[in-house]
Amino acid sequence: MSENLNIPEIYGSSVFGDQEMRARLPKAIYKSLRRSMVTGEELDPIVADATAMAMKEWAIEKGATHFTHWFQPLTGTTAEKHDSFINPQGDGSIIMEMSGKELIKGEPDASSFPSGGIRATFEARGYTVWDITSSAFIYDSGKTKTLCIPTAFCSYTGEALDKKTPLLRSMEAISKQAVRICRLFGDEQTQRVIASVGAEQEYFIVDRETYLKRKDLIFTGRTLFGAMPPKGQEMEDHYFGAIKERVSNYMRDLDIELWKLGIAAKTEHNEAAPAQHELAPIYHTANLATDENMLIMNVMKKVALRHGLVCLLHEKPFAGVNGSGKHNNWSLTTDTGKNLLSPGKLPQSNKMFLLMLAAVMKAVDEHAGLLRMSAAVPGNDHRLGGHEAPPAIISMFLGEPLTNIVEHIIAGNDESVPMVSNMKVGVSTLPVIRRDAGDRNRTSPFAFTGNKFEFRMTPSSGCIADANTVLNTIAADALCQFADELEQAEDFDKALMTLIRREMTTHQRIIFNGNGYTVEWQAEAARRGLPNIRSMVDAVPELTTKDSVALFERHGVYTEKELVARADVSYEIYAKTINIEALTMIDMAGKDIIPAIVRYTKELADAAVAVESLGIDAGVQRELLTRVSVLLRQANNALADLRMKQAKAAALTGEKQARAYYEEVCPAMDVLRAPVDHLEMIVSGELWPMPAYDELLFNV
Ligand code: ADP
Ligand code: MG
Repeated sequence: MSENLNIPEIYGSSVFGDQEMRARLPKAIYKSLRRSMVTGEELDPIVADATAMAMKEWAIEKGATHFTHWFQPLTGTTAEKHDSFINPQGDGSIIMEMSGKELIKGEPDASSFPSGGIRATFEARGYTVWDITSSAFIYDSGKTKTLCIPTAFCSYTGEALDKKTPLLRSMEAISKQAVRICRLFGDEQTQRVIASVGAEQEYFIVDRETYLKRKDLIFTGRTLFGAMPPKGQEMEDHYFGAIKERVSNYMRDLDIELWKLGIAAKTEHNEAAPAQHELAPIYHTANLATDENMLIMNVMKKVALRHGLVCLLHEKPFAGVNGSGKHNNWSLTTDTGKNLLSPGKLPQSNKMFLLMLAAVMKAVDEHAGLLRMSAAVPGNDHRLGGHEAPPAIISMFLGEPLTNIVEHIIAGNDESVPMVSNMKVGVSTLPVIRRDAGDRNRTSPFAFTGNKFEFRMTPSSGCIADANTVLNTIAADALCQFADELEQAEDFDKALMTLIRREMTTHQRIIFNGNGYTVEWQAEAARRGLPNIRSMVDAVPELTTKDSVALFERHGVYTEKELVARADVSYEIYAKTINIEALTMIDMAGKDIIPAIVRYTKELADAAVAVESLGIDAGVQRELLTRVSVLLRQANNALADLRMKQAKAAALTGEKQARAYYEEVCPAMDVLRAPVDHLEMIVSGELWPMPAYDELLFNV
């Protein structure tokens, strides 16, 4: 790696962005393309052809041989189908080609992607359409360079088969409703309101050689067995600690790869757990932030391999150690550059901000279940509510100054709202200091952090499109109701304050500034009637409630058919994931762990016999042998039980099957794990068939 990197030159060098377009396209074509990008108008075929030609030339200059439509199927990952630019001519020669049609539209073989029955019932094929707001880029994978065209993926009958299409629709919805609000405040200039997102990505880094000795990590991305090492994260010495050289080399390389892709990776630091780290890019329009996050995850994994490392994106790779999430920072900005969630210097008299705050309170309170569902992946079941991540209960943290304002408004004292710029701190010896309108609370799932909301339930491995689709839609719905009411008002100012007060009063139960990890909060939340949805399987039905269907249809984000399909796919993903975990456990326990323990019992028995033959007391050997044998019996019984339950669940389908995995198979996995983890602490390390937690967590 060269030391003198020209970062401005590297930055975006793998992206066919605005600069390249401007340089390579005829002026009229460029203008027309830009217009379509801003307005969403369909691309003229001539413009499409010219763009495709310029893009292809650029890509070939960069060494690309293939192009692909890159999309985000319901699996939560990314997919691509590669075509080469090669186009044979009749005379045996070839030309390198990509037409406008090929740029705009593709027909991947959709049958290998889950659709929740949509394709089976309606039309077998699906097609991908270029999201022209998202720039094409070159993905570098070993010797192959591929031009990737970000697309949305739909069925022929128009149903969304991906995560991006509903996200784009929700962005339209929030824009439409927020613009109505802008008009009410006399803003005639704003044409669009943009949902912006900055997603902080947490991840673990482990040594690849060590990783390869763990079937569970290879097949499931998390450890299914493993006793806690003598040292965990209790010393809190990792968080913001010095980054080890091997990891910092990795981070540097990762940064460079991301910069090439025009992704502004900015902050990197260690996280709470050993071997855990975080990367945050600078925020972006929601769909671009989603594309970037998908790329970040891909590049993280790819670059790790280069360094003999493996990047783990699972929500809970190690039991008993902090898990990983994604903090989804979300705000609304007008196309004139005004952040509608910015409280300004005097939030108490910033009516636009107060209205937005009331809308978000209403949205989150009324649709907490949907928001919870948007963060549901199998891995998050191990993380949420685990005293290290937000609880499974949705609540909103506003911080003291803002809460004071809300309380004053509710009490009807809006004219005498206290100043927030000078806040007293708890300790009387400290001077009165100015502080942010929102201070920090790491235990809240949904926190106001100054000029944005930070949704912290989002899973580290998942696609943030789901969470942002829900956020945009529920906020759009609240704003739509507000606009309906205020547009009819005779006295706007009066109606506005009445509405803000009423909504804040109705939805104040959603605000909670205390410690979300405590059992007291669980009880208090129950008293407030806030849902506590503990698992993915329990969250899925939220997608298809009467309210959810009406909400999404009202704003053209999902049809009922699409929601039912997504629920089906979610059950399927859950069942498949747990099935692989169960089978992996069965394999490891049956083939590796139990045989190793049997060997150990023989060693102990031989030792006891040998010691006793010398006339010496072998009490310790016998005692140990007895303990090991008892645990071995437990493990073997649990293994048989897990086998039986896995087979039973595997024979079912749909929701029933997902429930069987959740209610029967998962507990059986826990029952098997307990004696095995116990044995790991007793059995000699030399005999244990795989590397222990300490080797994984402290080895890089
Ligand atoms: P912390 O870890 O303290 O939450 P970071 O600075 O690591 O904060 O990350 C904050 C994330 O929020 C970054 O991705 C940042 O770009 C993003 N962000 C900042 N302002 C906004 C905003 N107005 N809207 C959306 N995201 C934002
Ligand atoms: Mg954060």
